[in-house]
Amino acid sequence: MTLQESASLNTSGISLPTAGAQVLRNAPSSSLSDVDPSQLTITLAATQKKLPDPETLVFGEVMTDHMLYMDFAPERGWSPPEIKPYGPLSLDPACSCFQYCPSVFEGMKAYLGPDGVPRLFRPKLNMERMARSAERVALPAFDADALLTLIKRLVAIESRWIPRARGCSLYIRPTLIGTRPSLGVSASTHAALYVILSPTGPYIRDPNGKGLSLLAMSDQIRAWPGGTGGFKLGLNYAAGFPAQRVAAALGYQQLLWILGETIAEAGAMNVFAVFERPDGELDVVTPPLDGTILPGVTRDSVLALLSHRPPKAVLPLLPADVRIHTAERPLTMSELLAASAAGTLREVFCVGTAAVVIPAARIGWRRPRPGENTGTEMEVVDIVLPLAGGSGSLAQALWQRLVDIQEGRVEWEGWGVPCGASDA
Ligand SMILES: *Cc1c(COP(=O)(O)O)cnc(C)c1O
Repeated sequence: MTLQESASLNTSGISLPTAGAQVLRNAPSSSLSDVDPSQLTITLAATQKKLPDPETLVFGEVMTDHMLYMDFAPERGWSPPEIKPYGPLSLDPACSCFQYCPSVFEGMKAYLGPDGVPRLFRPKLNMERMARSAERVALPAFDADALLTLIKRLVAIESRWIPRARGCSLYIRPTLIGTRPSLGVSASTHAALYVILSPTGPYIRDPNGKGLSLLAMSDQIRAWPGGTGGFKLGLNYAAGFPAQRVAAALGYQQLLWILGETIAEAGAMNVFAVFERPDGELDVVTPPLDGTILPGVTRDSVLALLSHRPPKAVLPLLPADVRIHTAERPLTMSELLAASAAGTLREVFCVGTAAVVIPAARIGWRRPRPGENTGTEMEVVDIVLPLAGGSGSLAQALWQRLVDIQEGRVEWEGWGVPCGASDA
C-alpha cells in the first residue's frame, strides 16, 4: 500500500496523513511474515465442555473449547497461527489497547443446515471490513483470505457447538488489539489477533415477541462526519452505554441513534423504514453510508434482496403484486412522525448479524418541548408501528429468506460458504 492510499481510508473521504503514515510503518513488508495457514498448530483441549441448552442461551455468555490466536511483532511480522484451548490472555498492563483503544472486532456466524454442513454467510465482507477497521486505528495489516481459511478451520473443529435449532447459530468474534507495551501516545507496533466462538439463539431478547421499542435522543451522539462510526472499533461502543441506561429507565429496549434529527442506526444494527405510496407500492429507505453508519453485511444483503427483480422470487410470504423501491438516503425523525400521522409509515426494522431482522414496534423521540427556550424541558413523542413484524411485513419475509440462505436451505448468489473438512 502506498502512503496516498492509506491516507484516504475513511469512507467519508477525510484524509488522515498521520494515521496513514503509521499504517505504512506497521504493514508487513516482504521481509515480515504474514498470516500463514500452512504454519497452523492445533492443540486440542484435554476435556470438552458440556453443551448448553439452546433454549437458555444468552448472547455471548458461553464460549467454546478452542480459540484461534496469533500475534504481530515489528521485527518478525505475524506469528504462526495456533488453535488452542480457550483461555485467558496474558498482557502487559501498559498495552495500548487498555489505554488508547486500538481495538477492532468483527461479528459473523456459522450456521448448520439440514445437510449438517457448517456455513458462513458472505464472510469475505467481514474480513475486508476488519482490514479497513485495522487501518483506521493504525493496527498491522493481515492477509484477510488467510484469516478466513483459519476461521473455517476453527469452525470445523468446533462444529459440535453449532446449535441445530432453526435460527440458532455459532457467533464468531474475530478480535484485533494493539499490544504495544508503552504509554506513548502513538500507533501500536505490536498486536494480537484472536477468534473466539459463542453459541447463540435466534433473537435479541424480545420479551413481548412483538418487536423492539427504540428511543431516539438528540443529546447523545454515536458517530459524526469524519469520525469512526463507519468502522467496527471497540471505541465506538462504551460511550453509548450511559444512553442505553437512559433508554432502559424510560422503558425502551434499544437506542435509535440520531445526529440532529437524522436517523443513523439502532443499537448496533442498521435501520430501515418502509413507506407506502398512494398506489400501494412500497419505498424501503435506509440511511446512506456517509461515514457515520457501519456498513453492515445484513444491510447490504437486505438491499440486494429487495432490489432484485422480480421480487416475488426472492421473498416468501408477500403478496404476489407487491412492488418495492429501495433507496439509500437520509431519513429524519420528522419524516417518520409525519408518515406515521398520515398512515403511510408501514414498518421500521433493524438488521444485523446478531438479530438478522427485528421489527420495531414503538419509537420514542426525546426532544426539547416545543416553545421551550432553554432546551432543558424534554418530552418524549411516541411513534407506534402496528404492523411490527406481523404477517405480510417485509421484516418477517426478510428474516425467513435470510435464515434460509444462511442455513443452506436456499442457495443464493454464493452467499452461503460451506466450511467442511475439505477446507481444513
Ligand atoms: C455490527 C454492526 C452492525 C451490523 O453489521 P452486520 O455486518 O450486519 O452484522 C450495524 N451497526 C453497528 C454499529 C454495528 O456494530
